[in-house]
Amino acid sequence: MHNSDREEEMEINSKDVSLRELRDRLAEFARVRGWEQYHSPRNLLLALVGEVGELSEIFQWKGEVERGLPNWSADDKEHLEEELSDVLLYLVQLADVCGLDLGQAALTKILKNAQKYPVNDVSPTASSTYN
Ligand SMILES: [Mg+2]
Repeated sequence: MHNSDREEEMEINSKDVSLRELRDRLAEFARVRGWEQYHSPRNLLLALVGEVGELSEIFQWKGEVERGLPNWSADDKEHLEEELSDVLLYLVQLADVCGLDLGQAALTKILKNAQKYPVNDVSPTASSTYN
């Protein structure tokens, strides 16, 4: 590992991450590799769905899983982190190539959900379903 890699890793471990930063880093990652030509909305959506499948495989056949994953190994948790990240990164890229600000859209959707499901009208189905 180069010194600059170590410095970057320390920087990554000590800060909040914004969707805009992820978007910009992903765009640069693709640009320098000449991959932009492959990153159409359709291709990114299909890649996203593939990653959701990989994420699902981690939970497949495990039965119900406790919050916090207390019985999972460090390797299993690392694998989960990687697949969750793959899903997030493709989602961020998809929003980017569609010209959308995902962070703003998500905040707007939370506000819409709050209006649709007022606090005084909470039921189990209303509180756990967004569409
Ligand atoms: Mg993956």
